[in-house]
Amino acid sequence: MYKEDLAVLMESGNDTYITVGWLTDTIRFKESFTLNKHRKNLISRLYYCNKYATIRMSKEGHHECDYCHFDESERTFNFAEIGNGEILIRDKNKRNVIYVAPTMICHYVDIHGYVPPMSFVESVLYASDDDLLEFKRIEDANK
Ligand SMILES: [Zn+2]
Repeated sequence: MYKEDLAVLMESGNDTYITVGWLTDTIRFKESFTLNKHRKNLISRLYYCNKYATIRMSKEGHHECDYCHFDESERTFNFAEIGNGEILIRDKNKRNVIYVAPTMICHYVDIHGYVPPMSFVESVLYASDDDLLEFKRIEDANK
């Protein structure tokens, strides 16, 4: 399900939801020096988000990577359904902006060298655990 990076997904109250990492195999990218510096930390933070802060979507089906047809749900340990969820993260500076990324974004960065917008990268790297878990807590409260 392709969506352009930094497109407005929806507005709710004072918050604006922005897309990051909804890729398709017609999109090409190359490593940037800026990301190389943060790459290892970013990947580890994104996997952390996947494990603890993911908002699960429908239990039906899951997303397969368009580039290599890798299907994360085939992995065992805590990564079941990983291709079928969203990570929501508030922008570190503009607090009314919320990024909505597919859980597959870990795989895109790790394996395919996708470089997310720097505002997203910084927000993921510098978010506190409280920030990362904000939307997960809302989801759990609504269960
Ligand atoms: Zn892939």
